[in-house]
Amino acid sequence: MALIVQKFGGTSVGSPERIKNVAARVAQHRARGDRLVVVVSAMSGVTDQLIRLAKDITPLPAEREMDMLLATGEQQTIALTAIALQAIGVAAVSLTGAQAGITTDGVHTKAKIQHITPKQVHAWLDSGHVVIVAGFQGQTPEGQITTLGRGGSDLTAIALASALKADLCQIYTDVDGVYTADPRVVPTARKLDEISYDELLELAGAGAKVMQLRSVEFAKKFGVIFEVRSSMNDHPGTIVKEETRSMEDVVIRGVSLDRNQAKFTLTGVPDRPGVAARVFKALADAAINVDMIVQNISHGDGAPTTDLSFTVDKPDLAKAQKVITGLQGEAGYRQLLVNEKIAKLSIVGVGMRSHSGVAAKMFETLAKAGVNIDMISTSEIKISVAIDGARAELAAQSVHTAFLG
Ligand code: ASP
Ligand code: MG
Repeated sequence: MALIVQKFGGTSVGSPERIKNVAARVAQHRARGDRLVVVVSAMSGVTDQLIRLAKDITPLPAEREMDMLLATGEQQTIALTAIALQAIGVAAVSLTGAQAGITTDGVHTKAKIQHITPKQVHAWLDSGHVVIVAGFQGQTPEGQITTLGRGGSDLTAIALASALKADLCQIYTDVDGVYTADPRVVPTARKLDEISYDELLELAGAGAKVMQLRSVEFAKKFGVIFEVRSSMNDHPGTIVKEETRSMEDVVIRGVSLDRNQAKFTLTGVPDRPGVAARVFKALADAAINVDMIVQNISHGDGAPTTDLSFTVDKPDLAKAQKVITGLQGEAGYRQLLVNEKIAKLSIVGVGMRSHSGVAAKMFETLAKAGVNIDMISTSEIKISVAIDGARAELAAQSVHTAFLG
């Protein structure tokens, strides 16, 4: 008898009809004799709607109260899912994060799980129930309700699978698994049978929205193997696990496109020690994430200057602009240029470690497609380039064809 943790996202529980479908699927598994823990998100759109309600009252609501509010979204779906299972004759019970023994730190709206003591989960499983657990929430040792950051139901599922030593962890979603690229951008993209934690992390970090990053980091840290698969059909999904030897045979696992960045260029920056440190310290202090950075060769003899470019997430654009403008006197740069029309194209694969010429092939492909490269950054298993946003789709398609067919 296997113990399985299944997680259903907001779209999969987005209507009474869909909740009934989830119940039918769970009942099928149950009929095979498996022990089941089911983690659910809020119905799609509900979390956003709750946030809007609070912001209609005041722009900066207290984070403790936001957690109190947002936790209600998942509480609706656990009860509805339990009701749906009971209605078809399956013994089921719903538990909040706190009842499931999920203890977090006190950082409201992005709490970290400290430990899980799933006593009630075990007890209900032992008495033959399917246990439905609210995703995305926990409680502090003092009993305050917390949430785990947007998309946090994934983390609940992975962490529970680890704490319960589950035999299987399945993340049910509205796509068939992890793809070599976004099929809406690259029509020839195909589903992957398997991918390593690191590759999925790099792809997600590069803009592919498959799962919450923190949950993949957690899975990697605790070695939780999981499957991403569709709640709409029975196709096998993508297995996410530690890298294996054979994974390196494939040079590139996937291609991703991120249109969510803007490029800042500071021209005429004095080329002396401490200036870059000052700029990036100020951005860090404002909690602005910087991704790609390029500094040009400096010119001028007496007091050489250089140009410094970097990218930030678009939602941080206004904040970053304010920070940089505030530094003009101190950093002494000439001009700030902002370009919102860039895209970041990345290729990811553990095979890069053992294959040479990957960057050359990517750049050649882009050159043939007439796409100019603005900035480049790399990690051990990723190459990213900033390019003109207007040519981004063509660029993604060309690079996908070159590496993945
Ligand atoms: N309902 C939460 C959100 O929308 C958590 C989740 O869906 O995983 O972010
Ligand atoms: Mg969600």
